[in-house]
Amino acid sequence: MPVSSAYRPDPRFAALGPEFGDAVAPAPFEALTLRYRNDRAATTVGLESLTEAEWIAHFGRFSPLPGQPGPIAMRYHGHQFRHYNPDLGDGRGFLAAQMRDERDRLMDLGTKGSGTTPWSRGGDGRLTLKGGVREVLAATMLEAQGVPTSRALSLIETDERLERNDEPSPTRAAVLVRLSHSHIRLGTFQRAAFHGRADQIETLIEHVRTLYHPGVATGDAAGLLAAVVEVNARLTAAWVAAGFVHGVLNTDNLNITGESFDYGPWRFLPFYDPAFTAAYFDQTGLYAFARQPEAVFWNLTQFAGCLKLVAGEPAQVQALTDALNGFGPVYIRELRAAFLRRLGVKSLGEAADQRLLDATLALLREGGEALRWEPLFHDWFAGFASSARALKGPRGAAYQGKTFDDFRFALFEHEPDRPERLEHAVFAAPEPEEMLIEEVESIWAAIDGHDDWSVFHAKLNRLETARQARS
Ligand code: AMP
Ligand code: MG
Repeated sequence: MPVSSAYRPDPRFAALGPEFGDAVAPAPFEALTLRYRNDRAATTVGLESLTEAEWIAHFGRFSPLPGQPGPIAMRYHGHQFRHYNPDLGDGRGFLAAQMRDERDRLMDLGTKGSGTTPWSRGGDGRLTLKGGVREVLAATMLEAQGVPTSRALSLIETDERLERNDEPSPTRAAVLVRLSHSHIRLGTFQRAAFHGRADQIETLIEHVRTLYHPGVATGDAAGLLAAVVEVNARLTAAWVAAGFVHGVLNTDNLNITGESFDYGPWRFLPFYDPAFTAAYFDQTGLYAFARQPEAVFWNLTQFAGCLKLVAGEPAQVQALTDALNGFGPVYIRELRAAFLRRLGVKSLGEAADQRLLDATLALLREGGEALRWEPLFHDWFAGFASSARALKGPRGAAYQGKTFDDFRFALFEHEPDRPERLEHAVFAAPEPEEMLIEEVESIWAAIDGHDDWSVFHAKLNRLETARQARS
């Protein structure tokens, strides 16, 4: 069956015209093998009813879905490790479709590995299968942890073999489709600013305001900046609470809706380690775990600079500065909220919530390798309701001493939030679902070594169970 009645195409980006994107052709793949299909995500946009052949036609060969204009490589620039690069843009992906979801939000289908574009810069426009597997794993783990994230909709293996200098080569190839609120990046605005195109900045402001931040008034650049600052501060707080290190926080990898996307060299923290760096090529640790708020703020400063191009009056410039400076307060507020959610307890007001945040970080710091990041939130989910379970569990011995007593005191002040969630079997298990590099590599080894996809799918199923248990 083709698309269901819930499918509502709404291709708004194409309507911005050829200055913002280029019509491109997908790579002509020969043999395609479906490896992962996210029907739960597909249902939100009316695509779950596609047959496997239709799915492969739309998400492997990119025959346009009904009502869609065809693939568009989006134009953008960006700061990469703080160096401006005017030579970016969708180099191995494109915007394949836009449609409304069940909550009436405008959603993008974005691709990765679908072929070269005018912005490929000599690259092959392809994605390694391992890269595709890693993006599915990251997005699924983050969703289970309640982080605002793009979702992997489809992973299809191609019959190509790729040469890469950071993977044993030749290596297998894939094409990925992700479902995300928006792929308009901070770098999309930077490109307009670079060319001195105030008119394009105005067009983008109006486009983003009406479609993604409807609470912002017409022409209110500072209001839009405040909204973009807010969603990105919330995202950063959610990453930190999840122990997630994105790896490449360039301005082309942050968008105006604050959903994380484009998962390359990401890692999850094994244990508290502020200097933990995900990307081997990030030699100075610019995007290390604890530097992520600074990195996102720096990127938002560049975005604010773009908006300055349309601020005439000094008062408007001041309003932009004020909106940008909202980052710090919003980040710390959202960090408290994210830790409360992860610990499964209700807010008790700012001071008590801050005590709990501080005490949790102190315990993670002191606990180090013996405690690890994810297990703490598993052991103490819903606060005192988990006390006996945590103390009897595998990390019981780590739960003693002054730092722990402070944590317990701060935690037990807070009322459990829906403690009936503890009845879920997930909490009877001694260990939570983690996503540490050794497990990622072993999932890949099964695929690479003997084409065994069962380990990958079993992991995704357990992550879905974990998501349900906490929601
Ligand atoms: P990323 O670091 O994945 O966000 O990519 C940065 C830029 O490099 C973007 O413009 C990508 O489209 C481009 N890019 C990355 N890998 C490739 C590739 N294999 N072929 C062409 N362009 C690529
Ligand atoms: Mg990118």
